[in-house]
Amino acid sequence: MAYLGNPTRTMAVLEKHGFRFQKKYGQNFLIDAHILEKIIDAAEITKDDFVLEIGPGIGTMTQYLCEAAKEVMAVEIDSNLIPVLQDTLSEYDNVTVLNEDILKVDISRIAEEKNHGKPIKVVANLPYYITTPIIMGLFESHVPLASITVMVQKEVADRMQVGPGTKDYGALSLAVQFYAEPEEVCVVPPTCFVPQPKVSSSVIRLTCHEKPPVEITDEAFLFKVIRASFNQRRKTLANGLNNAPTIPVSREDIVATLEQLGYNPSVRGETLSLQEFAQLSETLKKKVK
Ligand code: SAM
Repeated sequence: MAYLGNPTRTMAVLEKHGFRFQKKYGQNFLIDAHILEKIIDAAEITKDDFVLEIGPGIGTMTQYLCEAAKEVMAVEIDSNLIPVLQDTLSEYDNVTVLNEDILKVDISRIAEEKNHGKPIKVVANLPYYITTPIIMGLFESHVPLASITVMVQKEVADRMQVGPGTKDYGALSLAVQFYAEPEEVCVVPPTCFVPQPKVSSSVIRLTCHEKPPVEITDEAFLFKVIRASFNQRRKTLANGLNNAPTIPVSREDIVATLEQLGYNPSVRGETLSLQEFAQLSETLKKKVK
């Protein structure tokens, strides 16, 4: 039975193994059973699911996942945690622990080998120092995904969900919304972790689209346009695109394209919706030298 979502038991396991927290790995372990149950419920794990957990720590959430899923793969970078996980997960026969850096793991291959290429579910209390590369890596490498249910910094969850014209809107909002439907599950205060992080956290569920919500012929070019548009936040969209080496289109053609689409040449990237970026990208693509 899952027993670690409790401060006393967590501390006992840490002491038993003489574990020392490593700040560089973003180690803030969950100690609140109520939050753990909320994460598992939001992820809607069933006995048909293959779940990838990123950063199992001492296995607190892994225990819940093993009880709910068909199979769990947990990828942990810190080799000091491997003997701890062998201990805390010893009663489960449906879990594999991989001692690796998640950014170097071929997740598509795991999904292929372990789940016959069917969509997997990702569940994690993410290490905050690499939240964006992990999420973008999952999306951009086209791992077959049903959903990603993760704990992130509250501020990052806000950026994932907002639309045009708000201060948090940017490349991350557009990328997440291109691939998935974001939904905040709950806000989590620092007191639910050991050690306590300096910031508030949120659990967010990203339900992956079967098909993107906009029609696009060149996804890579769309993301080059989006990144260029937000690279220099205080600059106009025309300047951002013109200064980006990844967009080989002349300044005249950029301005002409913006005018053709009905924008003032001084328009800023943060006012365009995903639909509008898709239209801009398709039109600009035709002007690439
Ligand atoms: N899941 C545990 C929990 O909720 O208590 C621990 C979460 S803690 C926020 C993040 C975990 O990710 C730590 O165990 C840390 O060692 C691990 N981690 C950090 N960087 C990683 C990486 N690049 N690849 C895999 N795991 C990583």
